[in-house]
Amino acid sequence: MALLEIDQLSAFYGKAQALYDVSLQVEEGSIIGVIGANGAGKSTLLDSVMGLTKTQGDIRLESASISGCKPGEIVRRGVGYAPERFNLFPYMSVRDNLLVGAYTARDDIARNLDMIHTLFPRLEEREGQETSTQSGGERQMVSLGRALMTSPRLLLVDEPTIGLAPKVCLEIADVLRRLQAEFGLTVVITEQNANFALTLAEQVHVLETGRIVASGTPAELTDDPRLAEAYFGH
Ligand code: ATP
Repeated sequence: MALLEIDQLSAFYGKAQALYDVSLQVEEGSIIGVIGANGAGKSTLLDSVMGLTKTQGDIRLESASISGCKPGEIVRRGVGYAPERFNLFPYMSVRDNLLVGAYTARDDIARNLDMIHTLFPRLEEREGQETSTQSGGERQMVSLGRALMTSPRLLLVDEPTIGLAPKVCLEIADVLRRLQAEFGLTVVITEQNANFALTLAEQVHVLETGRIVASGTPAELTDDPRLAEAYFGH
């Protein structure tokens, strides 16, 4: 069953159009990747699912339209978001940054903190540290943790590997796989790092200047010239 359906989505910043008729489906329990170069519209796509942009078209969660819903309502319906560049509070501790994510939570705070500490033991060891003094990889972990504090079934992660060392990218991939396999989450990632998305995701979409130009499994897309074109032009 499709947990998320995006149907003919267009998004606008004033008069400028950033997405054109984007349609895709995300099966429950899957990891899907959206690959694209700078400015392709990856953040706009995730922002649109969260109700943060002006859009046309329809977005459905479990067949119910969430178009026009406020971001808080979308979070309450089970969508978690780890945005690019994290938006953490730099002078607050790791623990307090995680608790900020729990503002919509009812009684799951202890359970979610347990899950986060299982996935990221380092965050428990460093729970009093200000995030301004953390490495990029640690901040990405806090950002993912904060999104998990909202008890999502669908997790949206914008460019999880941006600026991270290869070894840290492997750790992040491992965590996203565990979220799928052990905790039953459905995950959507965007990436400029095509190899990361092709290694992790079951289904991949290539976004180029606001349009999906290719979709398929990693095996189908690895040698697809449209993947290279999306980066290097025609
Ligand atoms: P990056 O990898 O650089 O973050 P992206 O694929 O996430 O790129 P978006 O940030 O979604 O791309 O941008 C898509 C288009 O929308 C770009 O042309 C960008 O300039 C434009 N855009 C994004 N945010 C805004 C905004 N707040 N106001 C006006 N235009 C915007």
